[in-house]
Amino acid sequence: MTARGYITSRNDVFIKREYGVFMRLILVFRWFLLVGLSFGSVGAAFADVARVQNIRLGASEGATRLVLEMSERVDFKVFLLDSPRRIVVDLPSLDWPEGDASPVPKGLISGLRFGQFTATQSRLVIDLNTPALVARSFVLDPASGFPHRLVVDLKVSRAQRFAEQVASDRAAKRAQAPAPVAPPVISQAPRKPNRKPVVVIDAGHGGVDPGASGRKAREKTVTLAFSKELARQLRNSGKYEVYLTRSRDIYIPLRQRVNVARKHQADLFISIHADAIKRKNVRGMSIYTLSETASDKEAAALARKENRSDIIVGIDFDDQPPEVADILIDLAQRETKNLSVKFANLVVKNARGSTRLLERTHRFAGFRVLKAPDVPSVLIELGFLTNRSDEKQLLSASWRRKIAKSLVKSVDGFFSSSQQARMTP
Ligand SMILES: [Zn+2]
Repeated sequence: MTARGYITSRNDVFIKREYGVFMRLILVFRWFLLVGLSFGSVGAAFADVARVQNIRLGASEGATRLVLEMSERVDFKVFLLDSPRRIVVDLPSLDWPEGDASPVPKGLISGLRFGQFTATQSRLVIDLNTPALVARSFVLDPASGFPHRLVVDLKVSRAQRFAEQVASDRAAKRAQAPAPVAPPVISQAPRKPNRKPVVVIDAGHGGVDPGASGRKAREKTVTLAFSKELARQLRNSGKYEVYLTRSRDIYIPLRQRVNVARKHQADLFISIHADAIKRKNVRGMSIYTLSETASDKEAAALARKENRSDIIVGIDFDDQPPEVADILIDLAQRETKNLSVKFANLVVKNARGSTRLLERTHRFAGFRVLKAPDVPSVLIELGFLTNRSDEKQLLSASWRRKIAKSLVKSVDGFFSSSQQARMTP
């Protein structure tokens, strides 16, 4: 207002010059502000976040208390979800404890998961073994030797009352949320004719979804380390354009993983996982391609387990836009399925001799992450975290290098033969 006032007082050269200096100062100030803000936001995402120092549970008759001890006071939001019954606590990005810091579930709580949920948000998911409500939730300032504490008090409730609370939480969330976002439009721009084949590598699980666990290793960590090694080797070959669905410890919804492949018009999608099973002697690598009818009971059970990823992190399917139905999808899918099988066969052939394979190594089932209709897709279970020898291998950098190398050989074989097929009239 004052600046404009100055400039309109005509014939006053001095004031005009002052105005120029003033504007330059403003520009410099704006620059500082922008730089400062961008550094600030980077800091918020990666460094300057509150640290969770301890997670405690206490149980008494019909009530359970959860306490997060933290280095700072944070804002939080709590809501309930059903099928299965869960309580979700949304928090800003936090520095969560590494490894198995989760307390043994007790009282009304049957399980706990925590970790990064989106780029700016972390999440704590509390599984309930009986209907329960949040009686109180509050933050306490440091006192008597304790740091800041977030306290969530649960009390047992009737199923009917729980269902009512879920409905009212949903309504409240909808009222606050912006209008639902339409499903992402997948770019269908024509492919560049002489581009390098695009490979998308998908490190399974991540953030608030840890996946399977072994004695020491967690699936989300093992899959990320392996995916990075595979990406490194594929890039070093100079023959491929390579993308990762995630390159850090963050949760990515299953559908978004599929969309990353479609967005990059991937020629191959490789989802990396590691399994866990009760029978600790079971070991070996296996590979899966998409089929509505599973090849066997075990493959069906595995697909069910892997497809639960979105449920595990507390995604509310009521809030999700419906899957896009497309007749063309069916047609594309047949060709895609054949190519997926062809790649899976190569993987089995090249891995044989390098590492132990599960019997009937290539199996089929309805994995949601393999559902890109136009991208050949496979899911590889590297081994079993519940088997000591497999776990040791999965944690070994030299094993990862060796197996990634055998996969690179399979990728080479896949693209060199499809090249030939294209050239044959
Ligand atoms: Zn998995």
